[in-house]
Amino acid sequence: MRLGIDIGGTKTDAVAVDDAGTLAHRVRLSTGFGSPAVVETTLTAITDVASLAGLAAADFESIGIGIPGVVDNRSGYVRHAVNLGFEELGLGDALAGRLGVGVRIENDVTAAAFGAYRLLGIESSMAYLNLGTGIAAGIVIDGKLWRGARGTAGEIGHIPVDPNGELCPCGQRGCLETVASGSSIARAWITDDPHPALALFDAADEGDSKAVAIRSRLATGVASAVRLLILTMDVETVVIGGGLSHLGDRLLGDVGAVLSSWAESSTFLASLELTSRVRLVPEGRPVAAIGAALVGGA
Ligand SMILES: [Zn+2]
Repeated sequence: MRLGIDIGGTKTDAVAVDDAGTLAHRVRLSTGFGSPAVVETTLTAITDVASLAGLAAADFESIGIGIPGVVDNRSGYVRHAVNLGFEELGLGDALAGRLGVGVRIENDVTAAAFGAYRLLGIESSMAYLNLGTGIAAGIVIDGKLWRGARGTAGEIGHIPVDPNGELCPCGQRGCLETVASGSSIARAWITDDPHPALALFDAADEGDSKAVAIRSRLATGVASAVRLLILTMDVETVVIGGGLSHLGDRLLGDVGAVLSSWAESSTFLASLELTSRVRLVPEGRPVAAIGAALVGGA
């Protein structure tokens, strides 16, 4: 049995899975804010799942954690976890010191990529395109994560796509993240609705011209990300996950329409069959926590 935790900005998901990746137990907790609270939430999540499984933490074959931020998966050090309220945290050492067993720390998108790869039974190469507050990808090639020489592989959100676009917090202008992410929607479509992206899509369906324009910009941005991932890595499949993936077939349909329109004007792109290589992550499955559990033993 392996244990995996996905520490999100609001919720922490913890699972126990068997070696085949089948979900055995699951616990969800509210994530604390700030480094001491994040460590305590994680320890509680581990204890709760272990007790459901009737095991002690030390009995698991591995424990893996997925967390947002810049993660050094060798040292377990996490930086710039802005949404969790800390700049730096030696999470691996903090947890190992309390649990008495080693814990593997991964970036949450990287963990989700591995989880999606296993859950979907993909056998060749895959990019997991996470559409959350930002946009980033995790890459799995022949069953192994490709993190890059310095852990930056897949950080496509900060590839500028519009030289006249918005200034990005990273210091560049017109990054992909400024047009194709949850935060870009939140800035462009001001609403009190707890599900702003859904509200945007509904308004566009009702013919609101501003909503139509924002929705169209999102579809073009996501389609650009798909094209970028396939042209640079030639991954067989791009799996869309993250908060915006809850838009489901409405989002996939929009993105497919953009990709198909490009194929009509480019025989080169048509030959790549981009539309048929995109799919959504399975709804309601804790892919990041499952991935964290499985990558802990990889
Ligand atoms: Zn940027």
